[in-house]
Amino acid sequence: MNAPSFAFPSADHIAAAKQELAASEDHLFIDGEFVAASDGATLDVENPASGEHLAQVASAGVADVDAAVRAAHRALHDGPWATMPATERAALLWRLADAIEADAHDFALIETLDNGMPYAQALMAAVPMAVDALRYNSGWATKLGGETLPSGAPGEWFSYTLRQPVGVVAAIAAWNFPLSMACGKLAPALAAGCTIVLKPAEQAPLSAVRLARIVQQVGFPKGVINILPGLGSVAGQALVDHPLVRKITFTGSTAVGKALLRASANDLKRVTLELGGKSPAVVFGDADLGPAIEAAAMGVFFNTGQICVARSRLFVEETVYDEVVEGVAGFIRNLKVGDGLEPGSMLGPVISRAQLERIESYISGGAAPAAGGRRIGDRGYFIEPTLFTGLDLDSPLAREEIFGPVVVAVPFKRGDLDAVASAANDTSYGLAASIFTRDLSTAHRLARRIDAGLIEINGGAPMQFSLPFGGFKQSGLGRENGREGVEAFTELKSVSIRLA
Ligand code: NAP
Ligand code: MG
Repeated sequence: MNAPSFAFPSADHIAAAKQELAASEDHLFIDGEFVAASDGATLDVENPASGEHLAQVASAGVADVDAAVRAAHRALHDGPWATMPATERAALLWRLADAIEADAHDFALIETLDNGMPYAQALMAAVPMAVDALRYNSGWATKLGGETLPSGAPGEWFSYTLRQPVGVVAAIAAWNFPLSMACGKLAPALAAGCTIVLKPAEQAPLSAVRLARIVQQVGFPKGVINILPGLGSVAGQALVDHPLVRKITFTGSTAVGKALLRASANDLKRVTLELGGKSPAVVFGDADLGPAIEAAAMGVFFNTGQICVARSRLFVEETVYDEVVEGVAGFIRNLKVGDGLEPGSMLGPVISRAQLERIESYISGGAAPAAGGRRIGDRGYFIEPTLFTGLDLDSPLAREEIFGPVVVAVPFKRGDLDAVASAANDTSYGLAASIFTRDLSTAHRLARRIDAGLIEINGGAPMQFSLPFGGFKQSGLGRENGREGVEAFTELKSVSIRLA
C-alpha cells in the first residue's frame, strides 16, 4: 500500500482506543460470531512501554478450538466458500486489505500499545505489510492451477494435475509483528481456498482481535476465518493435535517448532515452520561504509532486535573493522529508544519483563559491551541497543538467538571467500544474511556460499511477498510468500483418463 499520511494520534484518540480495548469482552471469533471462552478463561494483555494493563482477552480452551476447527471444516466443505469462484475469493481478500488500509491509523495505534513498536514504524511499515500480504496473495487465487502432462502408459490417456486446498489450516503466530504475521498467514491459505483458525501470540493478540471484526464486516462466509487468542500450551497444542487440521503454519521459536513437527507426525499434518536465526552481516573493506553501517545496525536493531532475520553477527573486514565498530557504536548513541507514542522514538521497548530479563542475562554473561547494554528507566521494558566486540565465538552471546537488540562484531581477513562463508555458516541456523561490498563478483559468489533463505546485498528491504521466505537448517521448514508460499496450502492430485 502507499504510505498513509503520518500524524501522531492525539491524546484523545489514544485515550479512546485504550478505553475501547479495556471495555471489550468477548474475543474469540468462531464461526462468524464473537464469543467468550467456554470455560470463561481470559488473558491479561499489557503495554510493554509502561507495564499498564490494556485489556482482558478471552483465552481459548480445548473446546473452543474444537468448535473453531469444526466451523472451519464445515466452511471448507459445505458453505458458500466451497463453491465460490476464485475471482470472488480474490475480491474478498482485496476488500479485507482495503478495510485494513482504511483503518490503518487505528491498527497502528493498537500495534504500538500492544507490541510496543514505534507508531511511525507500525503505520508506515507494519500495517502496510499486512495490506501487501493480502493484495499480493489475492492475485494467486485466480492463478493456481495444475498442468496437462504426457502419459507413459500404454494406450491413449489424458493426464493432468489438480491443485486443491490442503484443508483446514492452523496458523500459530509470534508476537513481533502481530498484524502482518496474521495476514501473512491468512492470505495465502485463503487464496488457495483453505479455511483457517489463527492463534495469535498471547503477548500481543489485540490487532488480531480487531482484525476479526473487520473480517466479519467484509463478509467472509462464516467459519472461513476463525481467530482464537489463547495460550500456546492450551489452544496452540489443541490445534496441533486436532484431527481435522490438515496443515500447520507456525512462526516462533525453534524449540516449539520442533515440538510441533513431532506432534504433527501423528497424522502427518503438513507443516511450514518459520523459526529463529543468528544471521550474519558481512562488511567488506570496499563497501560504501556510511550506508553499510546504518543498514547493518538497523539490520539487527530494527523492532528492538525482535526480528527473526536479525543480523546479530557482524563480520567486518579487518581493514575497516575499527571504523565500522565506531560507526555502529555512534549509531547506538544516536538511536532514540522510548515509548512508541513519543515522537522521535526509533526503538520501542521489548515485549515483556521476561524478555527484558532474558536479554539482560545474555548481556551480563559477556565482557563489558563496546556500546549500550543498560536497561533504560524502570517503567516498561526498555534496553539500550548493545554492541559486543572481542567475544569468544563459542559463547552463548555469539551463538544463541537473543531476540533483542544485541550484535556481536567479529573481524575477518580478506582472502578466501570460502573461509568467510564458513564463518558465516558456523551456526545451527540459516535464515538470512547481508553482504556489503561494491564488488559484484564477491557479492554473488558469497551469496551462493551462505546457507540462508534470504540474502540481501548493500541494504535491507521490507518484506517482499513475491519472494519466497524461509530458513535453511534449524531456521525452518518450507517457504512462505511467493508461489511456493501459496502452493504450500495445496495438495497436488494427478488424474488420468483412459481415452482408448
Ligand atoms: P514461541 O514461544 O515459539 O511462540 C510462538 C507461538 O507458538 C505463540 O503463539 C505461542 O503461544 C505458540 N506456542 C507455544 N507453545 C506451543 C505449543 N506447545 N503448541 C502450539 N503452539 C505453541 O516464540 P516467541 O517467543 O513468541 O517468538 C520468538 C521466536 O519466534 C524467535 O525464536 C524468533 O526467531 C521466531 N520468529 C521467527 C520468524 C520467522 O519468520 N522465521 C518470525 C518471527 C519470529 P504463546 O503466545 O502462548 O507463547
Ligand atoms: Mg502486550
